[in-house]
Amino acid sequence: MAESPLPSASNAEWFDRAQQVLPGGVDSPVRSFASVGGTPYTVVSGEGAYVVDAEGTRYIDLVQSYGAVLLGHAHRVVTEAISKAAARGTTFGAPTPGEVLLAEAICARVPGCEQVRLVSSGTEAAMSAVRLARGVTSRDRVVKFDGCYHGHSDGLLAGGGSGVAMLGLPGSVGVSAGAVAATEVVPYNVVPELDDRVACVIVEPVAANMNLVVPQPGFLEGIRGACDAVGALLIFDEVITGFRIGSGGATAWSGVTPDLWCFGKVIGGGLPVGAFAGRRDIMSALAPGGPVYQAGTLSGNPLATAAGLAVLTHVSDADYDALNVRAADFGARLASAITEGGMAVSVPVFGPLVGLFLDSPNGKAGPALTAPVDYVTAKELAGNGVYARFFHAMLRRGVALAPGPYEVMFPGLAHGEDVLRQVVDAAGESAHEVSSG
Ligand SMILES: *Cc1c(COP(=O)(O)O)cnc(C)c1O
Repeated sequence: MAESPLPSASNAEWFDRAQQVLPGGVDSPVRSFASVGGTPYTVVSGEGAYVVDAEGTRYIDLVQSYGAVLLGHAHRVVTEAISKAAARGTTFGAPTPGEVLLAEAICARVPGCEQVRLVSSGTEAAMSAVRLARGVTSRDRVVKFDGCYHGHSDGLLAGGGSGVAMLGLPGSVGVSAGAVAATEVVPYNVVPELDDRVACVIVEPVAANMNLVVPQPGFLEGIRGACDAVGALLIFDEVITGFRIGSGGATAWSGVTPDLWCFGKVIGGGLPVGAFAGRRDIMSALAPGGPVYQAGTLSGNPLATAAGLAVLTHVSDADYDALNVRAADFGARLASAITEGGMAVSVPVFGPLVGLFLDSPNGKAGPALTAPVDYVTAKELAGNGVYARFFHAMLRRGVALAPGPYEVMFPGLAHGEDVLRQVVDAAGESAHEVSSG
């Protein structure tokens, strides 16, 4: 790896400086160590499955930018696409080929998806999809599921997973009661009762922001039926699941086709991107052709579309299949290692998404935990305080998990058998350390 051009300082020195000029020392709260304690490591570089911090310590990275990175850090296919695009200019405020190519790639892969509007984050994608749904249905109400995260726009923060509380209340100070008055929060994995005031139901087809909660059989089909019965639109928020579980999205594996999709993370190849997409008749309601306004100076940015397209064209169906098999095997071995280490554990796996719910049975051999099916049960386990100790035990062994109990692990194409075996070994030792107090 090339010599770092950054001034050298320890993690603690960087974080002290960060706290002077960045609130809490971070640009996104999930990166802070607020829920696990201690000082975050400051990343100076990454390569494949690894990140390297300011002190030169190398970690196996299961964060992978919370799922934005699929091929591993600094993959040549991506960095070369970005360099080439950058050499041609970074942004123009005019149509570019890159946005056409990325939109075509998305439509070609996701069954039923005909048009795409590119934006710069998942938050924007979900916020704009909801506006579009309200615009085309001339209705106000939005139904979302407790524990699902759809970005930090005012109306969607309620019941939004990690750090965001109570049913039906604004998820943050500063969100007006009016902004959430039309948002109804209902339990995940229960088909909601709708009426003809509902513009849309928005759902993570696999809930990956309350740790991992998988959809029970019939749930997604049930929502589709409930929406159809009252003329509401169904929005799949696939910002995490899209192009990670497979190339066809939730529609391909569930057989359920929504009216609108939200994408982000993987489709930007590590650059800031989001997208919402849908059938032509719905998408055509967007400005300039239609009455629903939505815009962005950097939307469809040439660097971001080049990076995203590089990822989408590089990954084959065989890659997804192999990753899913590897993740299933990893999940099973992780669960046994932690159980043998004396902790109670549940490791739900869906495609390449791997969850981790822990409990500490005080030194006794760990009984299996039941995998949560909704936010109430997920919070019971995620909120028990055990994760913080496990997190630090793993970090000391060179494995970086997300610094909070509501996230999933993101093994990607760079995490080979060897790397995952090291994670399993570290987990067994960490569990033993935590369970023996
Ligand atoms: C990350 C995420 C978002 C928000 O995306 P940002 O790019 O962080 O704004 C929205 N929905 C889901 C399901 C996500 O996981």
